[in-house]
Amino acid sequence: MRQKRRIGKSGSKNKAAKTVHFKTYKDLPFCAMSLSSTLTNKTGVWRTLTPVVKEVLCTSCLLCWKFCPEPCIIMVDGIPVIDFDYCKGCGICAEVCVTKAIVMEEEKS
Ligand code: SF4
Ligand code: SF4
Repeated sequence: MRQKRRIGKSGSKNKAAKTVHFKTYKDLPFCAMSLSSTLTNKTGVWRTLTPVVKEVLCTSCLLCWKFCPEPCIIMVDGIPVIDFDYCKGCGICAEVCVTKAIVMEEEKS
């Protein structure tokens, strides 16, 4: 996928600003971010919120599966099942769920 990155001050009339094209993620500049799969790193014990799925409200629309950034949601018979070894508790799945079939609750230790 082709990605664009704008270089220069936002909103300025800086003529030195230019657009750089990256053909693949391999062309991205080196940074502190890990390029490996998030599934190589377990969450550990720092998660404070945990998603809870209410199956009766789920319409199997796949939005949570699509937007989970980890990705740690597996669809089983049309119902999302969350792999808590990797879930970071970010709440995106609950935010995108139109029917509110996912709610975030405090992590139980
Ligand atoms: S976003 Fe909500 S309704 Fe859609 S699959 Fe996920 S839990 Fe079910
Ligand atoms: S809370 Fe975040 S990491 Fe966990 S399943 Fe939902 S979207 Fe994925």
